[in-house]
Amino acid sequence: MVDNLSILQQNTPRSTAVPQVAVAYGDGIGPEIMQAVLDILSAAGAELEYRPIQVGNEAYKQGVSSGIPDSAWDVLRETRMLLKAPITTPQGGGYKSLNVTIRKTLGLYANVRPVKAFSPFVESRFSNLDVVIIRENEEDLYAGIEHQQTDEVVQCLKLVSRQGCERIVRYAFEYARNNGRKKVTCMTKDNIMKLTDGLFHRTFDEVAREYPDIETNHFIIDIGAALLADRPEQFDVVVTLNLYGDIISDIVAQVAGSVGLAGSANIGERFALFEAIHGSAPDIAGKNLANPSGLLQAACMMLLHLGQSKVAEKIQNAWLRTLEDGIHTGDVASENFTRAKVGTREFAQAVIDRLGQMPSSLASVNYPASAKPIQISISQTIKGIKQLVGVDIFIHWNEGDRNPDQLGSLLEPLAGERLQLKMITNRGVKVYPNGFPETHCTDNWRCRFVSQKSTLKVDNEDMDDIQPIRHAEVLGLLARLEAEGIDFIKMENLYVIDGKRAYSLGQGE
Ligand code: NAD
Repeated sequence: MVDNLSILQQNTPRSTAVPQVAVAYGDGIGPEIMQAVLDILSAAGAELEYRPIQVGNEAYKQGVSSGIPDSAWDVLRETRMLLKAPITTPQGGGYKSLNVTIRKTLGLYANVRPVKAFSPFVESRFSNLDVVIIRENEEDLYAGIEHQQTDEVVQCLKLVSRQGCERIVRYAFEYARNNGRKKVTCMTKDNIMKLTDGLFHRTFDEVAREYPDIETNHFIIDIGAALLADRPEQFDVVVTLNLYGDIISDIVAQVAGSVGLAGSANIGERFALFEAIHGSAPDIAGKNLANPSGLLQAACMMLLHLGQSKVAEKIQNAWLRTLEDGIHTGDVASENFTRAKVGTREFAQAVIDRLGQMPSSLASVNYPASAKPIQISISQTIKGIKQLVGVDIFIHWNEGDRNPDQLGSLLEPLAGERLQLKMITNRGVKVYPNGFPETHCTDNWRCRFVSQKSTLKVDNEDMDDIQPIRHAEVLGLLARLEAEGIDFIKMENLYVIDGKRAYSLGQGE
C-alpha cells in the first residue's frame, strides 16, 4: 500500500492532455502481471495513454547488450514515465543490468519502497508493519566499476557524492513530512567505511537539523537490518545507500508477507519509473500463478504521481477488499484466511469486481485530491583547499614466499628524496613495517608513499605542518618503479583537504 505519495517533481510535464506512459511488459511473469494491472487501471477509469516498449530478453536476443534499444529511449524521452514489469538479468558476464542502466541514465536518484502488512489476511508476524525504505539509487557499489587487477584480486569501486547523499536524505525528510510520517532512520556502515558511509551519515545529521518536527536516529546497517527483520514496527521511514537499501527493502517486503506485494517508485528530476520490487520469477512464468499486486501498487504510485489520486484510491480500496474477502494468489494463500486460491487473471477480475467497494476491517485509503510536489534543492559545492601529500601505489608482486619485508626493502630505496615509504598493506591490513607473519597475503599490495616532510598524525591533527608534493614527484616515483620492473596496477593520490586527512588509514596503521 502506498502513502499519499507526494512525489510530483517540478519538471514533470503536466497538461490537460491524457498523460502518456511507456509500458514495458518485461520477462518471465512480466507480461501476465502487466496485463492484469492494465485491465484493473482501465476498469478503474485511469486516464492514461500507453506506449509499449520492448526491453529485456527480446532486446538482448537481438544483440542489444544494454537490453534497451534506441527506439525505446526515444519513447521514454517523450513520455518521461515508465511502468515496467520485471526483467530477467542475464547472470555472470556479458550484459549489464538493464534496471541499473535505466535508473542511472534517467537520473532516477530516489527509490521509494513502501511496505505494509495486511495481517491477518496476508500472514505476517508483524501486524503493524508500515515502513518506507528510501534508497539512494545511482551511486555506491552500483556504479558497477570493477577491475581485475592481479591474478588473485578483483575490485569494485564504491563511489558516493555529497550531492547524491544530500539529495536522497532531503528527499526522505520531505517525503516524511508530506506523508505525515514521524521518524526517519538512517542506516550506514560508517564504523568501517568512514569516508563514504561517513559522508552519508554526516549529511543526514546536517539535514536532520532542518527538520526538528521529525524524529531521527541512526543504525549501523547490520543491526539495522536485523531489527527490520525482527522488530520492523519500530521503523517508519528508512533512508540508506544503494546496496543496503536493495537488501533491506526485500527483507522488509518478505517479513510483511510476500515480495509479491510491494511496489516501488524510482524518481528523478525529469523522469519516473514504477515497478514491482520482485523479479521475473521464471519458476512460475506463463502459469497464471503470479501475484500482480506488487506491480499494481507501483501503478497506484504512478497514478498519484500523475495527480490521479482518486483513481489510485479506488483501486487500493478494491484491492484491500479483495484481500479481506480471501481471494488470494498462491504466494499469500493461508489456511485460515483464503477462501479462493486464484490465478493472476482471476485475482485481477476480483479486484475489478470490487471497484467502488471499501475494505471492512483493514483501514481504507483516502488520498487528498492533489498531491503537493516534492522539490529538492541542494547546496552548492564548497571548493576546499586540496594538497597532494602522498600516493598509494598498488603493485602486482608475487616473488618468493611473498614476504612483505622483502617488498619493503625493494621499495624503500626507490622512494626518492621527497617521498618516504610509509607502509604496505595487503587487502587493507598493514603488513609492513612490523606486520604479522600470520596475515594472509595476496599478490596485490598497496604501497603508501608520503611526503618526507609530513608530520601526518593518525588523529587528523598536525596537518598544518605538512609539506605538499607535486605530481611530478609521483611521476618520478612511477618511472623508478617501472625501471625496476615493478608492475604497478593503479595509484590513488593522498590529499589533505582543508587541513584534514582525506583518505583512510591502513588497518593496523
Ligand atoms: P524473483 O523475485 O523473480 O523470485 C523470487 C521468488 O519469489 C520465486 O520463488 C518467485 O516465484 C517468487 N515470486 C516473485 N514474484 C512473485 C509474484 N509476483 N507472485 C508470486 N510469486 C512471486 O527473484 P529471482 O528469482 O532472484 O530473480 C529472477 C530474475 O528476475 C533474475 O534474472 C533477476 O535478475 C531478475 N530481477 C529483476 C528485477 C526487476 O526487473 N526490477 C528485480 C529483481 C530481480
